Amino acid sequence: MSTNLLGFDLDALAAFCERLGEKRFRATQLYRWIHQRGATDFAQMTDLAKSLRDKLSGCAHIQALPVVSTQRSADGTVKWLFDVGDGNLIESVFIPETDRGTLCVSSQAGCAVGCRFCSTGHQGFSRNLDTAEILAQLWFAEHTLRRELGRSERVITNVVMMGMGEPLQNYAQLVPALKVMLDDHAYGLSRRRVTVSTSGVVPMMDRLSQDCPVALAVSLHAPNDPLRDHLVPLNRKYPIDELLDACTRYQEFAPRDFITFEYCMLDGVNDQPEHARELIALMKRHGAQGLQAKFNLIPFNPFEASGLKRSPQPQVQAFAALLMEAGLVTTVRKTRGDDIDAACGQLAGDVKDRTGVQERIASQRLGMLGQIPVVSVPAGQV
Ligand code: SAH
Ligand code: SF4
Repeated sequence: MSTNLLGFDLDALAAFCERLGEKRFRATQLYRWIHQRGATDFAQMTDLAKSLRDKLSGCAHIQALPVVSTQRSADGTVKWLFDVGDGNLIESVFIPETDRGTLCVSSQAGCAVGCRFCSTGHQGFSRNLDTAEILAQLWFAEHTLRRELGRSERVITNVVMMGMGEPLQNYAQLVPALKVMLDDHAYGLSRRRVTVSTSGVVPMMDRLSQDCPVALAVSLHAPNDPLRDHLVPLNRKYPIDELLDACTRYQEFAPRDFITFEYCMLDGVNDQPEHARELIALMKRHGAQGLQAKFNLIPFNPFEASGLKRSPQPQVQAFAALLMEAGLVTTVRKTRGDDIDAACGQLAGDVKDRTGVQERIASQRLGMLGQIPVVSVPAGQV
């Protein structure tokens, strides 16, 4: 059986090469060809011995995912829809900004957490992506964009695990993919430039802090347990205090000196002044334990089945103002790629549902899209 080398971090590739009777440095050369040069053909890899190239051709391949569609927004945002088999489609979005290029990557087809405001959550869980499928999104986007833009240097400077799925419910496949993103022989992204976004899988946050402490974003969305239980059902298992304690523990290992909290603004549900006040009290309490927070208010991207509405802009600004007055660093996320449905909550994916009926479902959101900083208060002054 032929192995897709996109699924290996350097250690795994070295082990694979050793099984072929090769030394570790050969694996490093091969790895650089794959990730830094985007090679798919072993014959291109002229600094590898012909005997090794022949061996590799017989037992391995380098293969990205079939692309179902590519959409480009007037603002430069690009959205790819990939086929991961059995009727499941996933998406990745590239968001260019003047000083960086961010790729938003999916970790699962569907999601088991079932958040009320998330269309991926509404469609249920189909399956985990494997490491090769997670990395294929980055590999394909980076090398396609380089070719298109005629650039030889890196185009993608940041990765956010904010596509479809809950990355920390796919931990075993996620961590090797993160390692490849960070590896200097592959994408060489710093830990600050790779962000895992989670709805709060507490034990896995602790493991990530030991195994691969990249930047962390936590989807909070509510200032108290009853409301969060309703919006993010995983809260019943890992309630807010436990989650924020885990954030404080994570911070010790994190590449940034704060944790980002995402808060999706839902009209009349979690966006009232009393919610802001409750949130401030909560963060003060945890701030005293050492937690340093940065808030990212996300405009909700509505979809029919949610029965929820986007908070009007003045409500969002009023909420942001209350947090800022209390000294909480707060940004309001600007959506990008609206014209190609690539903004938060607008990604469309076909994911086979659990009854096997394939449905077109408005899936979701995206990224650390262009954020408009609305304040610059030193982090942690809660
Ligand atoms: N499962 C992880 C990562 C993917 S979701 C998580 O929940 O953090 C990435 C972000 O998009 C999360 O903050 C999520 O709450 C937000 N999101 C989901 N649906 C959205 C919608 N319809 N509108 C705006 N943001 C949404
Ligand atoms: Fe899953 Fe994140 Fe959507 Fe919640 S917001 S259902 S955790 S993808």
